[in-house]
Amino acid sequence: MNRRLGRGGPLAGVRLLTFDLDDTLWPCFPTIQAAEREVHAWFREEAPVLAERYDIEELRRHRMRVARENPDKAHDLTAIRVHSYRQLARRHGLPESVAHQANAIFRRARNQVRPYEEVVEVLKALRGSYVLVAVSNGNAQVDRTPLAGFFDHAFSAEEVGAAKPDPALFHAASEAAGVPLELAAHVGDDPERDVEAARLAGMRTVWVNRGNADWPPGLAPPDLQVPDLHRLRDALWKEDIA
Ligand SMILES: [Mg+2]
Repeated sequence: MNRRLGRGGPLAGVRLLTFDLDDTLWPCFPTIQAAEREVHAWFREEAPVLAERYDIEELRRHRMRVARENPDKAHDLTAIRVHSYRQLARRHGLPESVAHQANAIFRRARNQVRPYEEVVEVLKALRGSYVLVAVSNGNAQVDRTPLAGFFDHAFSAEEVGAAKPDPALFHAASEAAGVPLELAAHVGDDPERDVEAARLAGMRTVWVNRGNADWPPGLAPPDLQVPDLHRLRDALWKEDIA
């Protein structure tokens, strides 16, 4: 029996840590903004009619509309983005390749994230003691980001066919790690899509609350709340030596 099993702390016995990415390990919005600026600059050069007709906000609104019109694909942000660019290209008599090239530019820029300052240090410290799996609703490719090499596995909603709060990402992580969900903790910033979803899947839950927000009334509280990953590491080490 794992010597950590049966201890009283909130993360006792945990062997698998799943991590949300956006706004848990890096701020999402600045990366998306920069990526969309890059796409727009590329349109200015290669498909100027699109750059003239649509600013970044209009491109975003169009994409949102495509997502609403295709609810079965809404979890697949890449498919939605390509679909949106393809519609606009067609509308203006441009080849479909414009959509794929624009998407490739977006993907590359989307991976240029800047992790919060403590993240690399803490992942390095946890690696080896826990199985680490990235589980994201977003479409960053973690092995092409500055966090490449830290995770044993990584899954995105578009790969597993459903976004959190659906438990598909957690099940994929558990299966890949060979660790049951009752010996897993999920770490994320979103009270519903991370914490509540993981709780319902039978996992321990860690809420990363970097902005010192109030926990939403009506939801069961997380097993552990931390302002950053240093505190997660401290809590895990404490379990380990308990
Ligand atoms: Mg998040």
